[in-house]
Amino acid sequence: MKFGVIDFHCDALGKLQQHPDICFEEDERLDVSLHKLKQGSVGLQCFAVFITDDPEQARIGRVLEQLSLFRSRVEKAGIALVASRQELAALNAAGGIGGMLSLEGAHGLEGNLNYLQSCYDLGVRFLGITWNHANWAADGVMELRGGGFTERGKELIRRCHELGIVLDVSHLSVKGFWELTEAAEQAGRPFIASHSNSMAVCSHPRNLSDEQIRTIVRLGGRIGLTFVPPFVKPSGPVKMTDLLPHLEHLCSLGAENHIMFGSDFDGIEEHILGLEDASKYAAWKELLLKYYSGQLVDKWLSVNALRFLQTWLPAIKKAL
Ligand SMILES: [Zn+2]
Repeated sequence: MKFGVIDFHCDALGKLQQHPDICFEEDERLDVSLHKLKQGSVGLQCFAVFITDDPEQARIGRVLEQLSLFRSRVEKAGIALVASRQELAALNAAGGIGGMLSLEGAHGLEGNLNYLQSCYDLGVRFLGITWNHANWAADGVMELRGGGFTERGKELIRRCHELGIVLDVSHLSVKGFWELTEAAEQAGRPFIASHSNSMAVCSHPRNLSDEQIRTIVRLGGRIGLTFVPPFVKPSGPVKMTDLLPHLEHLCSLGAENHIMFGSDFDGIEEHILGLEDASKYAAWKELLLKYYSGQLVDKWLSVNALRFLQTWLPAIKKAL
């Protein structure tokens, strides 16, 4: 199988919801547009449903609206929904660009696990448990009390494992991370961090400690290194080469086969110089090839993510 770049996190759906006049084919307000994905040779892009975790905003209606925008704007522009191994194989055979769906936080589910099933039926295959603050399921990493999962949150983990939704620890509290690790070990199911970097390289609460990185690797999960400037370098203009120490450090912890990328395009106001939108994956690849073998670069840009999807996506999509 030969895929273009696989990117595990962008917030373009939120922008489409915010600005109904945006054209997904191409619009200067979008970091991820059809045109830019093509220019960057991105073969598969995960689209996150992002709504703020303010209880006033955290409503299932807003989640469903973004999922419907994926159908009406993104799929309509020619991006194929990938929610099963069957669809992944079909995309590979046909060529073109695929899109996957995730929720960035469970708050929009309003604590109702029937809504989780509804989202699954609409193609959601990845679930970030929290955004930055506490929700009904668990605490986010910016919540000062640093709590873990609630009882209902633990039920959410079980339901996700049953359904085949992969959990995502980016934004989750440290206590939540270790509680999920226990549940994941028992279930024999890995989890991912879709958009986080190394805390040893850049000390930011959104990044992962060495112990967390080793754990994700041991469980067979994946880490999407992200292009959010303050998660790459604490200050100053951030260049593409500033990402390399994160790659090096992850490799030193045995993560060579577990690294992928989750840009956070359309979720950030500031960008790494030269890595401003999805089209710049071409320049990023070129830069990586100056330092690493083609085989390693392919692993990080697509093969590691692809192997994970070939293992953990459900085999076939059930008809709605
Ligand atoms: Zn995020």
